[in-house]
Amino acid sequence: MDKVQLEKYKQLILKKREELLKELDYLKDSGLNSSVKDVSGEHSAYAFHMADQGTDTMEREQQYMFASREGNYLYHLNMALERIEKGDFGVCVSCGKDINPERLEAVPHARLCIKCKSREEITKR
Ligand SMILES: [Zn+2]
Repeated sequence: MDKVQLEKYKQLILKKREELLKELDYLKDSGLNSSVKDVSGEHSAYAFHMADQGTDTMEREQQYMFASREGNYLYHLNMALERIEKGDFGVCVSCGKDINPERLEAVPHARLCIKCKSREEITKR
């Protein structure tokens, strides 16, 4: 993939990432605690414990992020940015072929080509 294309996807991902971060901020302000509790039952006890110790909130935030759907998405966007830096962006991690540009435009953080993705979904069922 040439640099111009890479740059285009990079901008696309950065934009999505920015929107997502805003959304996460919003979630944080609007009672994120309750939504996280749904994911891991014991979270509130954990949060209190952490607060008592006055431990690094960053770490707690990361816990939130990974517990939520948005956080998961953010993780994938970050990984895609990393792949752009490393130069293996747009290549299917499963079969090593180029991922269809149309697919990348719709899902810039895609790691699998359509073939492998659908195979993966069939296996999951
Ligand atoms: Zn593939």
